[in-house]
Amino acid sequence: MIQIILRKSLGYEGHNLDKLEKALEIMERVVNSELFQNKILYYEFHYRKKLFGGAIDFPYTSSQVLEIIENAVNYPGNTAPHTIDLYLELLHGKNSRLANNGQHREKEIYIDKAQFEQMTSKQIANYLFHEWLHKLGFQHARYNLPFNKRNQSVPYAVGYFIEELADRVKPSSPAEKSN
Ligand SMILES: [Zn+2]
Repeated sequence: MIQIILRKSLGYEGHNLDKLEKALEIMERVVNSELFQNKILYYEFHYRKKLFGGAIDFPYTSSQVLEIIENAVNYPGNTAPHTIDLYLELLHGKNSRLANNGQHREKEIYIDKAQFEQMTSKQIANYLFHEWLHKLGFQHARYNLPFNKRNQSVPYAVGYFIEELADRVKPSSPAEKSN
């Protein structure tokens, strides 16, 4: 069981905090589902290669990707295995710190407030998971690639699985939980 822990939620209040909590509930529910696990196991991720041999992105197999996600260790701010610790900040107006999202040295994940308010909880869950995958070290091209290959990178593909499965994975009943 992977647990999501909100360690910091600077700038979130009122209905924005409710919306954030809904997004975290979606993330936790989907990430622990068999549907999600199978999506990853049967997916062929795209990894960038250098022109003359060698990898830009480490070419993990699908089962390695799943294992790294489920172990949930070795990212900044991590407190325990199988735990997704999130340090979030909602930013007002143009802010250069948004550019830090793609880096895995910093534990904070930023969202622009105006953008956040336009997004659904499912889209926010996708966004946060995508950014957390960067903290784990997964990368993608800065710009889209031919044949939409960037969407097949780990952050884009897996982030989208979270959004896509939000309505398909039902909350488990208390009886199932005790198993
Ligand atoms: Zn990204």
